[in-house]
Amino acid sequence: MNVADSELVESILLDEGFKKALDINLADAIFVNTCAIREQAEQKVHSQLGRYDLIKQKNPDIIIGVLGCMAQNLKEDLLDNRPFVDIILGPDSYRKLPELLNRKNKDSKSLVDTKLSRYEVYEDLFPNRKNGVNAWVSIMRGCDKFCTFCIVPFTRGRERSRSVKSILDEANQAVQNGYSEITLLGQNVNSYKFEGLKFLNLLEEVAQVPGLKRIRYTSPHPKDITEDLLLVMAKHDNICNYVHLPVQAGNNRILKRMNRTYTREHFIELSKMIREILPNVGISTDIIVGFPGETNSEFEETLDLMEKVKFDSAFNFKYSSRPGTKASEYDDKIVEEEKKNRLQRVINLQNQHTLERNRLLIDSKQHILIEKESKLSSDYWAGRTDSNKWVIINKDNLKINDVVPVKIIAARGVTLHGQLFKKVEAA
Ligand code: SAH
Ligand code: SF4
Repeated sequence: MNVADSELVESILLDEGFKKALDINLADAIFVNTCAIREQAEQKVHSQLGRYDLIKQKNPDIIIGVLGCMAQNLKEDLLDNRPFVDIILGPDSYRKLPELLNRKNKDSKSLVDTKLSRYEVYEDLFPNRKNGVNAWVSIMRGCDKFCTFCIVPFTRGRERSRSVKSILDEANQAVQNGYSEITLLGQNVNSYKFEGLKFLNLLEEVAQVPGLKRIRYTSPHPKDITEDLLLVMAKHDNICNYVHLPVQAGNNRILKRMNRTYTREHFIELSKMIREILPNVGISTDIIVGFPGETNSEFEETLDLMEKVKFDSAFNFKYSSRPGTKASEYDDKIVEEEKKNRLQRVINLQNQHTLERNRLLIDSKQHILIEKESKLSSDYWAGRTDSNKWVIINKDNLKINDVVPVKIIAARGVTLHGQLFKKVEAA
């Protein structure tokens, strides 16, 4: 979401004639786009701001701006403790940036706008993307779910959706600019609604964009995954066989306390239905350990749910208290040492499951989209299967953005190794 928002900000500034500096020390203005989802994300921004303070001490005319969720959330703190910050803009106020930059030249006080909008979806603005493979396309903003641990409904405001037309225009343009894949983005993509059309209707429309090889979306809420949506996914070859399904916890009392609005039984049934309708689908999840009051046996139910579902991969987090949320007021917090311990157990189990699921693909034929050079060696490309698994393959004469058939020959760690299919057949 932040990559997409940064591309949007870049496009707003370029449209007004601003240029990107090639060296931070030569810039007239520096902006940091921020995330407030966990304390660690905020700490990163604080250390980044320390760096900008030093730059400003050398060059007092430079303009420093904090954008996005932390600006929304911590504006008082920033105003009090970071006097060198000139501009503070929340996620619905990016359009103000050029005007503020021009005004700032004549004014020395900090300029703040963190008003949240019920309507802003940056409908008419297309992000300025780097050349690449995947284009992020924002389809809705905000969240109305109010999970008790989560800051998003406070920093990003109410749910609102972009028009189908503007999403399709942006998707067409991305394909014309050479992108092979589009990821539809939203805090809750499947809450999308626009003039009677739902997320699955939008997905069907996007699937028909000429030349679009792959479509992904993130993040859906498990409550809003329906059979109809899965059938649309099954029907279109270019909609990837992959679902990110954040479970957060495996115990019903904790799920209720998190306000997730589903039970473990519903979630397990849902994952079965997904695997029935979409054979060989990749399912990933998000897990939070150490939510306030989570007992050891309640935590064990998360491990048990993982055993039952066997996720292909997972993003795992220690609960991080976010001031202003309901859960931050609970006084039965879990100590750090215990959270660390639980996190390690989740990671270990998931590593086993990832390997187990990946091994099922050995000897199978998969199509991968070549995305970048492998970290392993410059002789290899890395590409993803449509089920979202990374595969390493010899470069041969292939190039980025090619979709090629490969035979999977090994599964190591979280990565698969493959060989170009024609080559395998010839041998
Ligand atoms: N809208 C998505 C999640 C967006 S936030 C959904 O509902 O699934 C991405 C992930 O960050 C969440 O799924 C959750 O696992 C994690 N997260 C959010 N708030 C958190 C907190 N306070 N502490 C730890 N992890 C958190
Ligand atoms: Fe946060 Fe996702 Fe819950 Fe919305 S649905 S409150 S973004 S975790």
